[in-house]
Amino acid sequence: NPGKNNYHPIDDACWKKDEKVPYHALAVTLSKIEEISKRLKIIEILSNYFRSVIVLSPSDLLPSVYLCLNQLAPAYEGLELGIAEGILMKAIAQTTGRSVAQIKNDAKELGDLGLVAEQSKCSQRMMFTPAALTVASVYTKLKEIAKMTGHAAVAKKVDKIQSMFVACKGPEARYLIRSLAGKLRIGLAEQSVLQALAQACTHTPPGQEYPPEIMNKADKLSVEKFKSMVDSSALILKTTYCECPNYDRIVPVILEHGLESLPDHCHLTPGLPLKPMLAQPTKGVQEVLNRFDGIKFTCEWKYDGERAQIHQSEDGKVSIYSRNQENNTSKYPDIISRLHTCTKDTVTSFILDSECVAWDLETQKIKPFQILSTRKRKDANEAEIKVQVCVFMFDLLYLNGEPLVKEPLAKRRALLKEHFSEVAGQWIFAHSIDTNKMEEVQEFLEESVKGNCEGLMVKTLEEEATYEIAKRSRNWLKLKKDYMDGVGDSIDVVVMGGYLGKGKRTGLYGGFLLACYDPENEEYQSLCKIGTGFSDEDFQKHTEFFKEHVIETPRSFYRFDKSHVPDHWFDAVQVWEIKCADLSLSPVHRAAIGIVDPERGISLRFPRFLRIREDKNVEDATSAQQIADMYNNQDQIKNQEADTKLKE
Ligand code: ATP
Repeated sequence: NPGKNNYHPIDDACWKKDEKVPYHALAVTLSKIEEISKRLKIIEILSNYFRSVIVLSPSDLLPSVYLCLNQLAPAYEGLELGIAEGILMKAIAQTTGRSVAQIKNDAKELGDLGLVAEQSKCSQRMMFTPAALTVASVYTKLKEIAKMTGHAAVAKKVDKIQSMFVACKGPEARYLIRSLAGKLRIGLAEQSVLQALAQACTHTPPGQEYPPEIMNKADKLSVEKFKSMVDSSALILKTTYCECPNYDRIVPVILEHGLESLPDHCHLTPGLPLKPMLAQPTKGVQEVLNRFDGIKFTCEWKYDGERAQIHQSEDGKVSIYSRNQENNTSKYPDIISRLHTCTKDTVTSFILDSECVAWDLETQKIKPFQILSTRKRKDANEAEIKVQVCVFMFDLLYLNGEPLVKEPLAKRRALLKEHFSEVAGQWIFAHSIDTNKMEEVQEFLEESVKGNCEGLMVKTLEEEATYEIAKRSRNWLKLKKDYMDGVGDSIDVVVMGGYLGKGKRTGLYGGFLLACYDPENEEYQSLCKIGTGFSDEDFQKHTEFFKEHVIETPRSFYRFDKSHVPDHWFDAVQVWEIKCADLSLSPVHRAAIGIVDPERGISLRFPRFLRIREDKNVEDATSAQQIADMYNNQDQIKNQEADTKLKE
């Protein structure tokens, strides 16, 4: 039982040293995690499981980490499961002797095929007991299934699924089916897995012999000391993961050399995407000048396209990654074939940060983002490309074998301009001015909007001007034209549920319940209902999409009020960008509850739909803290606070 107090990684494990970790041990761990919502307890349970793996069967740590994350490989390899429900139902039916119709019915009732699988399996009598599944064998088979393509793939997949499913006991069936469907549904975020791994390695460092009496490193330490050791290990692990988001590299280093030595072995490497630096919103030029008072900064146009992290390794291999480390290389063959025109002879390897924007060849102007989103997303054939793009280069993170992220922007930009060239309509350095004069910034902002940009990115140049991987930093501010009279920024929300439409929207969803994400508690908190900003086609498109993601009951990690229950609940699968007039405290919505007010959440007034954010995962939605900051940053709230202070 990994949830036990004073867990002992040898005595309390259900397998012996050097045996393969039974899949059952992982399934029980996941089921314990599913039962509770307290983040610290979740981390403790997972870390206890990892400790046993480290001590007893270290070679199973990597598949364990992947299976907890429901991943098979780094995101950029694009190896995903997500087997259609129909195929899974067929496999469950064939293995348990039940009919597909019965299984479909149960799935409708329980809202989760994983549970149906578990129950179907429990009531089945077996003539003989198949060999128990192991974590390693499940991981290998899932990988094989994900790689299967072509004509006969479905039959082969069903065969493989059956061969595993037949051996499932208890909760194993639930998690196996959920893994195959591509969703674990236990609300376990990657940050918690990293924290649990760091905690496990602090408690039970890998690579050591453990006589039973010194099993718990923590036993010999004060609680504070242990906590601070876990925090420093977690910082090392999380920082490494940002630079090198690849467990295939990280886990073996932890096992062989210890977590502390990660920075010596895993660094920024061309070919491996890193998590990008992000900006904080601001509401006006004055706010920018206040923030950067006395600090040198630059203003760049904020282009409205798709972020492109362009990598070239020493062997000449080129890859392009999205904001979310997805591999976009096959989306942009046109960029790759003309890359040599912008790199000078001095360049051997690099990582370039840029925005790829749709470009009108006739007028030589930027086209809106909507045009770019019509491009084929994978395996584009260069000859068939209709939407031309121009790459606006704004940063250089690595050059000729050397990482540049610790250098100030002024130096990175100078190197960018020294080693790369502009090519009209194809490769252009982000348009910029270095000024601290209010009127000039204001004028540059107006110009950027006339040039079809969203506004400006304002960045520190010399002091506090390193490239902060994976961080929404105060050293990059975004200044959008339409912030001025609004609340500061558009908001990225997760769609939680739908309300059935009436009148001309009968048969479609006419409204939706939206949520922000709270990474602290790993939950989605209701933020507002939305029904405007949609075209007729939008309603059609959203209805078709969400029909496939309806769930019978809300997830345990959805927070909402009974008065706002939608007609249909959806799985958290899509992010929308929306705008609103302002934010107000709400007795019914739950966003940022406990941050600004102990009992009330925050809600948006007059929300309008802008677009789907294909490039964001649901956990990248605007966070509860950001919603609270936006609320507090509104003029009327600031004035109220100032008034109260005056009165005091
Ligand atoms: P949004 O794109 O909605 O503003 P986001 O969360 O994707 O939000 P932000 O940090 O808010 O990212 O804004 C930065 C984004 O703006 C970058 O991810 C990049 O795609 C784009 N961008 C356009 N021009 C620039 C530039 N000159 N410098 C940095 N980023 C730029």
